[in-house]
Amino acid sequence: MTQIIAVANQKGGVGKTTTTINLGACLADLGQKVLLIDADAQGNATSGVGIEKGTIDKDIYDVLIDEYPLAKVIQPTQRENLDIVPATIQLAGAEIELTTRMARESRLKTSLKAIEGQYDFILIDCPPSLGNLTINAFTASHSILIPVQSEYYALEGLSQLLNTIHLVQKHFNPQLKIEGVLLTMYDARTNLGAEVVAEVRKYFPENVYQTIIPRNVRLSEAPSHGLPIIDYDPRSKGAEVYQKLAKEVLTANGK
Ligand code: ADP
Ligand code: MG
Repeated sequence: MTQIIAVANQKGGVGKTTTTINLGACLADLGQKVLLIDADAQGNATSGVGIEKGTIDKDIYDVLIDEYPLAKVIQPTQRENLDIVPATIQLAGAEIELTTRMARESRLKTSLKAIEGQYDFILIDCPPSLGNLTINAFTASHSILIPVQSEYYALEGLSQLLNTIHLVQKHFNPQLKIEGVLLTMYDARTNLGAEVVAEVRKYFPENVYQTIIPRNVRLSEAPSHGLPIIDYDPRSKGAEVYQKLAKEVLTANGK
């Protein structure tokens, strides 16, 4: 069965895209067939796996708004077992356009039916908002992975996120679960980091991954080369931690 995971947090810059790309690539490296879906108009997941904007004909916008077949927009990446549904800036219009469409919450879910069973994991990179695109991702998903930046205001905004999850559970997707909470950009040199980790573990007693993602400059360099960290610098700390996370996710899903 395919496990569909939305990577979400309405705060920008917490590591959603970095996690989508690198968890996806590490799962693929472990032999899993993985599809990334870029649901952010910034298209950072798309460029981060080496797809050049100018080469994209149809993207996730055409799927959500014009019901263009999702299978026809899937592109392979340089890494085996890792494909992507790209996004371009035209997706920015979808947030508003969806409002007037029929079944606006379930359009992504419906489009995914056609590829059911073809992947082990589908990871959806959500935009930094709790609007229609994120609601579509939550409605289509089995679970949500929440990256949380290890900083002072880490928990800020999480109650709104949980509220949105509850609303989607109630109205569209009762099975929706929290896949896990991932601490990102951890800085071991400050006391604050450890305090934040303790605080987040208290807030989510059952859901925080053992693996913590530290700040690692190689992780921030990799996207400009269009490569996941395991291809850009396989010996880096960043590669090591995302490989650990992938193993944790595999185990949690009984794979
Ligand atoms: P989001 O998708 O939540 O907006 P990103 O994954 O794009 O966040 O990360 C925001 C910025 O921080 C990017 O420039 C990214 O390269 C960088 N970054 C993400 N994770 C790390 C990390 N662990 N160490 C260093 N830089 C990181
Ligand atoms: Mg992003």
